Amino acid sequence: MPLPDLVPARMVNEVLFCERLLYLEWAQGEWADNAFTLDGRAVHGRTDEKRGDLPAPANGQDDDAVEEPEGPPYKATSVELSSSRLGVIAKIDLVEEGENGEVIPVEYKRGRAPEVDEGAYLPERAQVAAQVMLLREHGYRVPYGSLYFAKSKRRVRIEVTPDLEAIVLGAVARARELVDKGEMPPPLTSSPKCGGCSLSGICLPDETRLLRDLLDDGEERVRRLVPARDDTLPLHVQAQGGRIGVVGDELEIATKDEKVRARVANTSSVSVYGNVQVSTQAVRTLLEAEVPLAFFSYGGYFCGLLGGLGTKNIELRIAQHDKLRDPAFCLGVAKGLVASKIRNCRTLLRRNAEGLEGSTLGELEILAKKAEACDAAESLLGIEGSAARVYFQAFPKMVKGSKAFVDAFDAEGRNRRPPKDPINALLSFVYSLLTKELTVAVAKAGLEPLLGVYHRPRFGRAALALDLMEEFRPLIADSTVVNVLNTQVVGEGDFVVRRDGCSLSPSGRKKLLYAYERRMDQLVTHPTFDYRISYRRVLEVQARVFGRLLLGEATEYPAFRTR
Ligand code: SF4
Repeated sequence: MPLPDLVPARMVNEVLFCERLLYLEWAQGEWADNAFTLDGRAVHGRTDEKRGDLPAPANGQDDDAVEEPEGPPYKATSVELSSSRLGVIAKIDLVEEGENGEVIPVEYKRGRAPEVDEGAYLPERAQVAAQVMLLREHGYRVPYGSLYFAKSKRRVRIEVTPDLEAIVLGAVARARELVDKGEMPPPLTSSPKCGGCSLSGICLPDETRLLRDLLDDGEERVRRLVPARDDTLPLHVQAQGGRIGVVGDELEIATKDEKVRARVANTSSVSVYGNVQVSTQAVRTLLEAEVPLAFFSYGGYFCGLLGGLGTKNIELRIAQHDKLRDPAFCLGVAKGLVASKIRNCRTLLRRNAEGLEGSTLGELEILAKKAEACDAAESLLGIEGSAARVYFQAFPKMVKGSKAFVDAFDAEGRNRRPPKDPINALLSFVYSLLTKELTVAVAKAGLEPLLGVYHRPRFGRAALALDLMEEFRPLIADSTVVNVLNTQVVGEGDFVVRRDGCSLSPSGRKKLLYAYERRMDQLVTHPTFDYRISYRRVLEVQARVFGRLLLGEATEYPAFRTR
């Protein structure tokens, strides 16, 4: 990976705080906000805008320095300086005039000033020291630097001693070395720093340590550092002829009967079905807010996704292309996915089916074992096909009542394009929703959705999303269908039956969407990490963990199996 020429002063802070954070941010271009970073951005709001210029240095060494400002005391914000000798670049929040032509750099921080002798922790002090060194390099007289802590409304003076200068230069060298080496440093051990780190959901520190077998004795639990649930909501628009526009910071959905609004900041994704118009402004707003926009046909076929430029993590993409050329690697992951899917189907039947022949569960267990032991991708396809036949033949036994639907269900199992009966229409629609969900999760994790381990590459097919979806089909999709049938949420009036097939009516689709989203929001215990998170979060975690596997940070993909 080519090295950037200069190390940003902010990275001096990061490398001293956590080397893995430095690597994720600087080498891989990963970023995520949390409450702290959003707060920090608000604190920086005024200084991010460039105002004022630096005067010429008092000793007149810098020919490039800009003209004298209007009159003392001057202030300049967002001042960018660099030095190839130091190997550092910085954007200084504020530079202000001290006494006798001296200048003081001020770095804004969101939190409270810590109660430590030095006035601040080492990473922040080193960041300010790098700014002081840069200003001095440009000929300014800089007696000290400052940190302004917004919560305590306090400035802390940072003395830049030779020792601190040496730490800065050491940190610059270390940052370069880490990026040059191209190996992600391991996560910190049970560090409280991870709790406030905005990249914890990407880094997955404890999960990675568990998968790398690095957990220490007595360190039993994987901490759940990501929120258990999303606090944003998905938006589905299926009213034909509907229009989505933007008013202020809200989406406005206009149909012939009504207008409703949804705050962009509270929206996790937007899905449109069939003939729904989305204005250019709405598309741009969604792209800027990184809210995925998914397009489905009127019949519920997932057509594609609009999601901006996506991740900058090229290292991960390269690893995906490299690893997925290895048939042994692909087969190893695929076997686990198929075996988990078969076992999850078995569990769903065991919990819900009435009058099930004992042989069905036995057959599925045998097929799951065969999948685990299989040594060729073609055999795995055959095993999966046999398991699907056994499972779908038993599927109607999970449906209580709804006799007409059960009778119409094809005893040979699934049919599609178009589905021929109501149960197949329900299954097709939820599988389509789940494909969209995994495509979003995979893209968000920085992976190429079209390149998978099990589903072969085919024009326009989100193969990796389909791979990772396998084990969740029974757990999310099939269980939603069983639920809407058994609670009689959907009935005969919710389907349109034609000679060539059967589809959901708008009312049926709305009821199914509601049940599906409730299922996605349901908390579940992760079988490997042993914490409770929603299914929607589980999909994100699994996609990220798959990325860890590609980068060599895990030896196997942790299957998601329920008991
Ligand atoms: S979560 Fe912890 S180990 Fe991971 S980058 Fe953040 S501070 Fe470092």
